[in-house]
Amino acid sequence: MILAPDRLGRFARHIVLPEIGGAGQAVLAQAHVALVGLGGIGSPALQYLAAAGIGTLTLIDDDAVDPTNLQRQTIYREDEVCHRKAELAEVWVREFDSAIDVHWKAQRITHDNAAELIHRADLVLDGCDNFATRLAVSDACVAGEVPLVSAAVGRFQGQVGAFAGHLPGQPCYRCFVGDAFDADDCDTCAEDGVLGAMVGWTGTFAALQAIRVLLAPTGGLGDPQWGKLHVFNGLEPSLRTMTIAKDPGCRGCGGNAG
Ligand SMILES: [Zn+2]
Repeated sequence: MILAPDRLGRFARHIVLPEIGGAGQAVLAQAHVALVGLGGIGSPALQYLAAAGIGTLTLIDDDAVDPTNLQRQTIYREDEVCHRKAELAEVWVREFDSAIDVHWKAQRITHDNAAELIHRADLVLDGCDNFATRLAVSDACVAGEVPLVSAAVGRFQGQVGAFAGHLPGQPCYRCFVGDAFDADDCDTCAEDGVLGAMVGWTGTFAALQAIRVLLAPTGGLGDPQWGKLHVFNGLEPSLRTMTIAKDPGCRGCGGNAG
């Protein structure tokens, strides 16, 4: 793939990086990322993925903008309250970079529709707000052999992990959290509160990890960090990394244990 002259200019600061270069930028331009959840994590993740020149984006969220979202969901405006987030996010992308092939789906992801919704994606970035959706997304990613970057925030703790449970020896998100949360549909932000900049940090870190995974075949930013969970604390602040073990009995990926 040859990048057009205007694209070479737009991404000049990427291309000059040895870790990306023209070859890496071409990989990003050919990549298809599905974003699940267009809230506090999804907003900055979307902005940095679009800015990075990801060629195709699928935006999935069944929610509408609420006035309480504006404190952290940075792509939405006052006059967009009550409108569907997925549709608004698609408009944001089109106005930001008309060359991006963008699609939106205002559907809640369940075990019944997850496979179809993430179909053809090279990577899924999940920044949704509940375990039931995260597990449905994870199971569909394992079944569809799609890498997953999963991101979450609880109060002042952010978590971002990269998962490839379809690969031998690699854990999936369900290996990490187990089965207990399948029916749990909690919006902890409403109950516990959340600091906007905290979800922003998490969302931009998730975008970085997504780009790392996409560039891994070129050598790019190095190892894709499968099964590594980065946990950051906004109060201290600190960042530490945990390694998630593959669970041979996992309902999501256990059958693929190699
Ligand atoms: Zn698993």
